[in-house]
Amino acid sequence: MIARQDCEVLVIGGGCAALCAAIAARRRGANVMMIDHAPFTWRGGNTRHARNFRIAHDEADDYVPGRYPAAAFAADLARVAPDGDAALAELLAQHSLTLTHWLRAQSVRLQRRGRGVMPWSQRTAFFAGGGKAAMDTLYATARRLGITILHDAEACGIEWQGDRVTAVEVVHQGAMVKLSAAAVIACCGGHQANRDWLREGFGAAADAIAVRGMGYVQGRLLRALIDAGAVTVGDPGRGHIVAVDARGPAVDGGIVTRLECIPYGIVVDSDAQRFADEGGDTARTHYARWGERLLAAPGQRATLILDRSALARAASTAFAPLRAPTIEALAELIDLDSAALRATVDRYNAAIVPADANAPESWRAMALSPPKSAQALPISTPPFAAFPLIPGITFTHYGVGVDQALRVRRESGAPFANLFAAGMIMAANVLPRGYLAGLGVTISAVFGRLAGEEAARHAGR
Ligand SMILES: Cc1cc2nc3c(=O)[nH]c(=O)nc-3n(C[C@H](O)[C@H](O)[C@H](O)COP(=O)(O)OP(=O)(O)OC[C@H]3O[C@@H](n4cnc5c(N)ncnc54)[C@H](O)[C@@H]3O)c2cc1C
Repeated sequence: MIARQDCEVLVIGGGCAALCAAIAARRRGANVMMIDHAPFTWRGGNTRHARNFRIAHDEADDYVPGRYPAAAFAADLARVAPDGDAALAELLAQHSLTLTHWLRAQSVRLQRRGRGVMPWSQRTAFFAGGGKAAMDTLYATARRLGITILHDAEACGIEWQGDRVTAVEVVHQGAMVKLSAAAVIACCGGHQANRDWLREGFGAAADAIAVRGMGYVQGRLLRALIDAGAVTVGDPGRGHIVAVDARGPAVDGGIVTRLECIPYGIVVDSDAQRFADEGGDTARTHYARWGERLLAAPGQRATLILDRSALARAASTAFAPLRAPTIEALAELIDLDSAALRATVDRYNAAIVPADANAPESWRAMALSPPKSAQALPISTPPFAAFPLIPGITFTHYGVGVDQALRVRRESGAPFANLFAAGMIMAANVLPRGYLAGLGVTISAVFGRLAGEEAARHAGR
C-alpha cells in the first residue's frame, strides 16, 4: 500500500549527523521528519560507540585544555588527507569552534576536563557517559522539539523530476511508503556493513573483515544516489580499518574489541613469522596501521604474542588472552607450528639491543627483518599470551560529493536542487584517506547542523 506523508525537511538516518541535521532544521522553524533504518533499540547509529570528537578552540575551557586554533585543525586534516576538499575542511574546522556550545544547547553532557574516566586530550572533547548517552539526549531533544521520528524505516529509492527529489521510497515496518518534502538530507552513513559492496572494493579479503559498527548501514540510499548521477568521492577500496580481536562478533563489536597493546609484543602470521615493525608507530592510534597489514596478511589473520611483563602493561581487553606456560604450548593453543614460533621468538629476543637500561621503551631490534624499532622488550617471562587479530572496518573512505552548502553534486553539472548530505555519506570530501582521532563525530555533527540549516532555508525557513 502506498501512503503519502509530507514534511518540509526529511532527514534520512538515525545517527549523529541525522540528529544534528533534524534539530538544526527544526530550530530554524521547519517541520521535520527523521527516518532510520534501525529499530528503536539500535537508535543512534555508530555514534553509540564513539567517545570523543575533535574541536578547534582558541582557549582552554571546561572540556579541553590549551589552544587548538581552527588553522591547526585544518592543517592536521590536510596532512592526513592532502587530496581532500580544502574549502570544506576549512568550513569543518571553523564550525568545530562552536560545536561543544551547540551540543550543550541541545542538552548533551560532556566530560569535564580531568574529572571523568577518559584521559584528557587537547584536541578532542569527550561525551559524558559515551556516545550512547549523547545520542539518547539528542533523541530526547528532537522529540521535545516536535520532530517526527520513524524507526525501522529504510529509504531505498528516490523519485526525481529533473534535478529535484519529489519523493523518497521507504520500507517502513515491512510496508512501502512514499514521503515527500521540500528538502531532503541524506545522513545515512556509508556502506561498510554491506558485505557484497565491500567485496567490490576489497576483493575476497572482505569476507574476513569484522564490521565494527551496526549492520544497518548498508548503503542502499548511497547506491541510489550514485545511480541517479551523484558525484562520487574517495575510493570504495579504502577504509578506516583497525586491528580487532578475532573472537569478537562479525558485526557491531564496537570499541571494546580493538587491541591497543600491539607495540608491547610481536605479531606473527600463520607461518609464525613476523611481517611488520610492531614498534614503528607507538602513537595511541597505531592500531589503525594494523588494519591494512592484517588485510594483506595470509587469511587476513595474525596473532599478537606477549609475555607476562608485556601483558602487565596492556590495558584490559574485552576477551582474555590465551595463555600457556611455554611458547611451544602457546603455539599449540593457537594452531601455529611450535618450532617455527619458538625460532621466531628466539630470533627476536637475541636481536634486542638494550641501549639504555633505564629506558626500555627505547630498546630496539634493528638487525631483524622487519626490525622492531621501539619497545623491543624480550618475550621471556611466562605465562605467554596470545591475541588472535583480524581487520575491523569503521567506515569506508567513499561517498557522494557535496558543495559548500552541503548540496549533493551531480556528474552532469549543478547540484541537485533540494538534496543535501551530511556525515559519513559525504565524509570522503574532507577525508578521502587517513584519520584523526575524533573526526568522525565532528564531521557528522558539524556538517549535520549546517545541512539542517541549509535545508530549512531551502524550505523557506
Ligand atoms: C566502534 C566505533 C567507535 C568509534 N569511535 C569514535 C570516536 O570515539 N570518535 C569519533 O569521532 N568517531 C568515532 N567513530 C566513528 C563515528 O561513530 C562515525 O563517524 C559517526 O557516528 C558517523 O555518524 P553518521 O550519523 O554520519 O553515520 P552512522 O553513525 O553510520 O549512522 C547512519 C544511520 O543511518 C541509518 N541508515 C542507513 N541506511 C539507511 C537508509 N537507507 N534509510 C534510513 N536510514 C538509514 C542507520 O540506521 C544509522 O542510524 C566510531 C565508530 C565505530 C564503529
